[in-house]
Amino acid sequence: MRPLERVAIIGTGILGTQIALVAAHAGYKVKMFDQKQDAFIETYNKLEKDLKTRQIKPFIQWEDWEKCKQSIQQTTNLDEAVNDAEIVVEAVPELMELKNKVFKELGEKAPPEAILATNSSSMPVSRMEESSGRPELCLNIHFYLPLQGMNIVDIMGGSKTLPETMQKGASWIKSLGCIPLTVKKEILGFCFNRIWRAIKREALYMWGNGFVDFRDTDRAWMVFTSTKAGPFGIMDQVGLDVVYDIEMVYYNESKDPKDKPPEAFLKMIERGELGVKTGKGFYTYPDPEFLRPDFLNPKK
Ligand code: NAD
Repeated sequence: MRPLERVAIIGTGILGTQIALVAAHAGYKVKMFDQKQDAFIETYNKLEKDLKTRQIKPFIQWEDWEKCKQSIQQTTNLDEAVNDAEIVVEAVPELMELKNKVFKELGEKAPPEAILATNSSSMPVSRMEESSGRPELCLNIHFYLPLQGMNIVDIMGGSKTLPETMQKGASWIKSLGCIPLTVKKEILGFCFNRIWRAIKREALYMWGNGFVDFRDTDRAWMVFTSTKAGPFGIMDQVGLDVVYDIEMVYYNESKDPKDKPPEAFLKMIERGELGVKTGKGFYTYPDPEFLRPDFLNPKK
């Protein structure tokens, strides 16, 4: 039997759903819990539709999706989700207080030897490790969008994480078919997320202050990197509310006004324009402009 065979995922929105499916695909026994009963199935359906519309070849072949979905045990009871887990990954919203609350609950309910990981996009696990009562078993395990092919995963310890916990975590990530990016010293933003964050900040600043149309930023990025979406298209996939929460973590840390997301961005979120998940963000879905053949082919 492999180490960390029994997996629990807490919060099954965009990321939790993807992590659960990827772990099920690797043959692990996966249970999941979300406070919203239909969160998993709603996200699953949206993901499937989005990837098919954008003709993205997913990490898990289409014929295996249903089998993976069926193998995951859903529960509306947190105790039941974690009572025999060897690793728990939380993917609840990016709010420090909430993460601490969840870590406290996991510390009380998961078996004492279970590893507790946060999928937080920005917060070092040292900010929540004490709430769990087992800081030596706490990790940041930060997935990107694995089902969309982004199979890189940041892994970082907190202030008391044991080397053995890091090793187990890295082996587990590899066993999922993902690439662990090991962060050797704790830093806000981990390995690649910090780079991506610098791009987001500039892109939002240029758009939010009226310097550049967001489509031109995306066009430039798509040509420059030969990819199928630019920063604004990617932010729409991530969810603009999620992006906002992440940007606020950096701003609250630095208090540098340049780190604060622009007002126009907050207004979009208040209007419910959250990206792919609500059908409208910077682009409109399911047929966003950046996927149209003429997006990079200006008419003469
Ligand atoms: P999301 O809003 O899509 O999903 C969050 C889910 O958590 C929701 O289904 C919600 O009902 C559930 N939830 C809220 N409180 C809960 C609780 N107390 N217990 C159980 N479930 C609860 O968010 P997301 O995009 O999946 O992001 C989740 C985490 O993953 C965040 O920390 C985010 O920073 C990180 N992350 C997101 C992305 C991305 O692209 N969206 C990428 C990497 C990491």
